[in-house]
Amino acid sequence: MKWPKLALPTKIMLGLLLGAAFGIVANRAGWQDFVGEYVKPVGTAFVKLITMVVIPLVFASLLVGTASLNDIRKLGRIGICTAAYYVTTTVIAISIGLVLANIFKPGASLPEETKAQLLASGAQDMTAKVEQMKQKPSLKDTLLNIIPSNPIQSFAEGKMLQVIFFALLTGICLTLVPDTRGAPVIAFFEGLNDVMIRMVHVIMHIAPYAVFALIAAVTANFGAEILRVLTKYALVVLLGLILHACLVYSMAVKVLARTKVWPFFKGIRPAQLIAFSSSSSSAALPVTMECAEENLGVPREIASFALPLGATINMDGTALYQGVAAAFIAQVYGMDLNVGQQLTIVLTATLASIGTAGTPGAGMAMLVIVLKSIGVPIEGIGLILGLDRILDMCRTAVNVTGDASCAMVVAAMDGQLGQGPRR
Ligand code: ASP
Repeated sequence: MKWPKLALPTKIMLGLLLGAAFGIVANRAGWQDFVGEYVKPVGTAFVKLITMVVIPLVFASLLVGTASLNDIRKLGRIGICTAAYYVTTTVIAISIGLVLANIFKPGASLPEETKAQLLASGAQDMTAKVEQMKQKPSLKDTLLNIIPSNPIQSFAEGKMLQVIFFALLTGICLTLVPDTRGAPVIAFFEGLNDVMIRMVHVIMHIAPYAVFALIAAVTANFGAEILRVLTKYALVVLLGLILHACLVYSMAVKVLARTKVWPFFKGIRPAQLIAFSSSSSSAALPVTMECAEENLGVPREIASFALPLGATINMDGTALYQGVAAAFIAQVYGMDLNVGQQLTIVLTATLASIGTAGTPGAGMAMLVIVLKSIGVPIEGIGLILGLDRILDMCRTAVNVTGDASCAMVVAAMDGQLGQGPRR
């Protein structure tokens, strides 16, 4: 019998469903060790492979993107549109999260016993997270840290903001040197960019198996118990994420980019699936770029500028989650948040989401900053630790969707969006 040839997104979706089903069976049968030992490594290999491409791709594509914008004024215009879109959607996301948390009050009715149990189960991980956050530098140092003192070291250590800074500056300076000098450099990085994108195509062939393995590992380890207890909190986060994606991105695509909404969601699906299964916007970045260029008609110069930036600084899903989580923890502790405190959440969660790395679990670590700003005990994070992974998967999918919608809107505003989505 000849198997029908399936498109890659369909295969990835199939991998996701089969992986989840297998994980549930493994969970019931107690095969967690087997899954961890023999199944998960396929997923880990995929994430490592795709992460391997990220730094050279971000550097080459941002450099070429910036240099090909050619004049500083155009770069400034595109830069301002991109930043404005990112900040506005982030603020809307947190507001949606807070409104929902105020309406549904997920933390108000948690029984004392459950609360104690959750805090105890999260206590160990919690100590590690708090320790980690204690080492966080001040705002001044964080800003100074964006400037690399040695770019090669930034590459080696994967310091994304430093790499972005160096790439932008190099791209700008390339437009300032004579063509005879600048052109060969740009040509080299264009070549490197193409090679990296090709590499992503090759790696993507194992995506369906990787997605199967990653999802199986998550579901196998998932304690169904904790899920039941925290269902209301999780549902509020999920509802917020869905509302944000359906309302804000749909409106942006329809009104600002003036194109159809459905092809947008269809075109970005492969990136969403990779983001969902890897919980990492950085790992999904190469796929997001490919989807934006191939399926959404975003020109390369804009995709390679807006998307690497977005994967690092724009996290609407994370911001929304931080808003709900902060309100939830405050409610559990019986604290009534006033308007001032809620505005503080909006401000700090915006900054925290910008500072969050596009890696699994990073958003939860940054939640400490939000909690501290409103005087909520940070130990409260222990309450939501058990559920973090599954919510991380969902918020990361929203994060990359937000990046892609921005690339489309900016391209449309610049009159450069291809004749609508191509497929
Ligand atoms: N995992 C998220 C991302 O990579 C960040 C987070 O919210 O933890 O986009």
